[in-house]
Amino acid sequence: MKKIIVLLGIPGSGKGTQAKLIAENYKYTHISTGNLFRAILADENSDPEIVKAVERIKEGKMVEDEVVYKLAFGEIEKKMEESDGVVLDGAVRNLKQAEVYNKFFKDNNWQNDIMAIEIELTDEIAIERLLKRHEGRTDDNKEVILKRMADQGNSKIRPIVDYYKKLGILKVVDGSKDIEIVTKEINEIL
Ligand code: AMP
Repeated sequence: MKKIIVLLGIPGSGKGTQAKLIAENYKYTHISTGNLFRAILADENSDPEIVKAVERIKEGKMVEDEVVYKLAFGEIEKKMEESDGVVLDGAVRNLKQAEVYNKFFKDNNWQNDIMAIEIELTDEIAIERLLKRHEGRTDDNKEVILKRMADQGNSKIRPIVDYYKKLGILKVVDGSKDIEIVTKEINEIL
């Protein structure tokens, strides 16, 4: 099994749920950049500069690439040492990030340890699901959900998915199915 699983999917695709399950089942560490950012905002000792850069997520805006790398790469290196592998959840959200992550993986000699899995779902179903979700997140309201879908929906993730497809390391599962069925499909791939 590959040591780095890059989970791809639009908001509401069930990425977070499946990432958690993969981590539990295979003793991997779940790394969610969204969770990393929320933890920074919740910690009163966080660097004010970083807080400022991350606060954008409250309005559904993407965090700047450089800030993503700064926070995510350190976390990945640490967890690759501490556990059997990592599941990256939402860590790669544009083509540029996919390329820079790939360079980071190569620099660490992990280029043969990567698998990308897309949890495929239409924007329409995802929006319906997100409108029903009440996790108390500040970005779970209709206006912000629509903004996130405009920025992170299928048209935006397509270049990333194609990038991993070209590298020959992409698998796709049907995200419209029940959680257990998606998990089963992922387990078959892994
Ligand atoms: P999530 O919990 O995965 O839905 O992420 C919450 C928010 O964090 C997203 O709506 C983005 O604003 C931001 N975010 C998470 N990961 C990234 C990333 N790789 N690049 C840019 N912004 C991100």
